[in-house]
Amino acid sequence: MAISRADLFRGRLHPKPVPSEAPQTLEARIGAACLSYTGTDCRMCGDHCDRGAIRFRPLGRGRWLPIIEEGGCTGCGDCSAVCPVKAVTMEAVTA
Ligand code: SF4
Ligand code: SF4
Repeated sequence: MAISRADLFRGRLHPKPVPSEAPQTLEARIGAACLSYTGTDCRMCGDHCDRGAIRFRPLGRGRWLPIIEEGGCTGCGDCSAVCPVKAVTMEAVTA
């Protein structure tokens, strides 16, 4: 790429710096396919979370609502790996 005298004068020797993006990490999300919503006794994700970041809130009639504790998930993916119906996905979030 040729550099003109005007570019030299204006200090355009180097490409513009690319603004750094905010760091991202992964966080678990539990989708509607979760068996606990329907009353099937499954807490595999919670049992495998070493951080204790997954709680289960009773919905009545044997159904449970799995909840990811805010700030508790490290994005390790263990819960996603053990879910029998692939209801746990890992999503990128801005740290
Ligand atoms: S492992 Fe999957 S199906 Fe079981 S409670 Fe967790 S999200 Fe629901
Ligand atoms: S991704 Fe890891 S830390 Fe986050 S909820 Fe699942 S098992 Fe727990």
